[in-house]
Amino acid sequence: MEPDFPAGALVAVLTAQPIDRMLDYRAPEGGCDIGALVEVPLGPRKVLGVVWGPGQGGFDPAKARSILRLHDVPPLRDEMRRFLEKVADYTLTPMFQMLRMTVRAPALEDAVRLVYRATGAVPDRMTPAREKVLQVMRDFGGLSFTLGELAGAADVTPSVIKGLVKAGAISEEVAPKDLPFQRLNPAHPGKALTDEQTAAADALRTSVRSGQYGTTLLKGVTGSGKTEVYLEAVAETLRAGRQALVLLPEIALSGEFLRRVEERFGARPAEWHSGITMTERRRVWKMIGTGDAQVVVGARSALFLPFQDLGLIVVDEEHDGSYKQGDGVLYNARDMAVLRASLNAAQVVLASATPSLETWVNADTGKYARITLDARFGVAVMPDMRPIDMRAEKLPGGRWISPTLQGAILNRMKKGEQSLLFLNRRGFAPVTLCRACGQQVACDHCDARMVEHRFQNRLVCHQCGANRPVPDACPSCGVEGKMVPVGPGVERLEEEVKAVFPEARATVLSSDLFGTARALKDRIAEIAAGGADIIIGTQIVAKGHNFPKLTLVGVIDADLGLQGSDLRAAEKTFQLMRQVAGRAGRAEAPGVALLQTYQPEHPVLRAIMSGDDEGFWQAEADQRHAAGVPPFGRMAGVIISSPDLQAAFDVGNRLARNAGPLLQVGAEVYGPAPAPIARVRGRHRVRLLVKAAKGAALQAALAQWIAIPLPPDLRLTIDIDPQSFL
Ligand code: ADP
Ligand code: ZN
Repeated sequence: MEPDFPAGALVAVLTAQPIDRMLDYRAPEGGCDIGALVEVPLGPRKVLGVVWGPGQGGFDPAKARSILRLHDVPPLRDEMRRFLEKVADYTLTPMFQMLRMTVRAPALEDAVRLVYRATGAVPDRMTPAREKVLQVMRDFGGLSFTLGELAGAADVTPSVIKGLVKAGAISEEVAPKDLPFQRLNPAHPGKALTDEQTAAADALRTSVRSGQYGTTLLKGVTGSGKTEVYLEAVAETLRAGRQALVLLPEIALSGEFLRRVEERFGARPAEWHSGITMTERRRVWKMIGTGDAQVVVGARSALFLPFQDLGLIVVDEEHDGSYKQGDGVLYNARDMAVLRASLNAAQVVLASATPSLETWVNADTGKYARITLDARFGVAVMPDMRPIDMRAEKLPGGRWISPTLQGAILNRMKKGEQSLLFLNRRGFAPVTLCRACGQQVACDHCDARMVEHRFQNRLVCHQCGANRPVPDACPSCGVEGKMVPVGPGVERLEEEVKAVFPEARATVLSSDLFGTARALKDRIAEIAAGGADIIIGTQIVAKGHNFPKLTLVGVIDADLGLQGSDLRAAEKTFQLMRQVAGRAGRAEAPGVALLQTYQPEHPVLRAIMSGDDEGFWQAEADQRHAAGVPPFGRMAGVIISSPDLQAAFDVGNRLARNAGPLLQVGAEVYGPAPAPIARVRGRHRVRLLVKAAKGAALQAALAQWIAIPLPPDLRLTIDIDPQSFL
């Protein structure tokens, strides 16, 4: 086939270097295709780039340098390049940064690798350097090394190794190509589905067969079999010869999920997340490009992989806050999945028991299709949810488990069942106070209180991670022995449990107590097997773990999320409470969820307990509609941060005064105001909020608005569709 650009033609190349435009190069010998991954000279360096289109010219063509070489991987396809451009436009991100997200697989140039292995032969001439190399190879017994690895391990130059190759003491071979993935078999017998599940699976299969774009909300209570159902959509995608991507929020904990995929298709899928090795990364990246990886299970960044033919994207627990990337490119993987699918004639399945209001509204208005699973699989039923009115409970100071909840826990213990106490607060106590002067211990660098972690015996700032020993003397007044913890964290709750139920096996599940994802996973498996009577957990317990013996969930402070003015406070509380309660009664024994609250008549808590989900969403949608806020209006946050508060405010005020481009599209600007967390890591934070009507061309206006010169130490970040306002 003729290449898109013949040798010597001028082409525009996008690099991952911080340059705000494409650079022109000449196509190499043999020509190159659009989308090709190439190595180009940039000043004295060689950098990775992608051929984006014809050269733009406008300079002396005699000066154009040549592409050095093509990488041995398939070119980025049209839809992928358009996807990157659209995400860049939507999130106001420069293209070089988008490319970085896509080419994060390292060492593409290592396509053909030479490996070195000891032959056992002794070289005629021995030198200390040669001896070091052979010693390393003996130490690692028969392993093969790359040139760089071996030279590094022996601390010699590569020429020493090459010399040993000549002398016959070391062999040099071409490394075996990356191992291919095992084929997944859609005809592998799966579970027999219930009638309700079959109907849902049929609908998804039909959508996949259409070969067109479409998004479906798959709504079903926890345990209703959403996973079983969407795996049938994956099967249909495989039958069509296309690839499927399943996004999970807590990928590190996906062991159980990988097993289920293997059970259904007879082979394991590819994984993509921060926990995989560099070698595996490179392998997966390449196999996705050639279509040899058929199913990828990944974290949100998997959305930027160069699929050969992506036919289906599943976003599991689509409401989960972790789909929004919090730094760097601020994108929401759920929304960008829909965008990517629309460019790819692919289907999207958004699965959740408690969808985001955005998705619920899109399904309600018919923009998305909707499938509902009403029944839990088998005999399991949704737990009964009831309030515990804390105003009527008698509790001594420093205690948080009400007598009513205590009684319920005792009951479970007698029956050999498990209880879960949910409190979304890591550490021992959220506040440490001096009883002499009344001061609370705050972080030196942030506008945040230090949280006591008794397990580590330190005070920790949850904003920046700064920590120090728990002081004996007050940092403010110097009086000794007067520091007291105020309020509960999970570690303190554990103390209470041990005091109240000395005979119980209690355990805390909190992300900070486990060094590795593996350790946490192992602990969860132990608990699931019955290795604890009372589990005390933060929100990591809300996410998809199966504890078959768990029949009681006690929410220590159901009011916690309802404080504050966050736009999504009600929605998030609703989702979290439902999700946590869903942990109870997953097997035969029915479950109960008890919510400790001082405001049992609060509409959100009433909706949670009544089971009238649709009523809750409708009411929430009506309120947001009336206020013109998302999803019925658009928002963008602007965070300005600087070591100098005045400088941050100056820029904020300048923007607020010169909001012409925004006013032209009918947008309103609020602020500047100190951000709710007004200082992080020593930087003052000031924010502005932009509100616009749904159809407003907000991005273009924003781009024009913020294009002002900024002081060197000041950072300005735009957050389109902000999820939180910290
Ligand atoms: P969800 O994703 O809605 O929480 P799952 O698909 O994880 O639900 O199903 C909950 C549990 O019930 C899982 O252990 C699953 O294997 C089991 N299950 C669901 N449907 C079936 C079925 N048709 N046959 C056998 N087991 C099923
Ligand atoms: Zn801090």
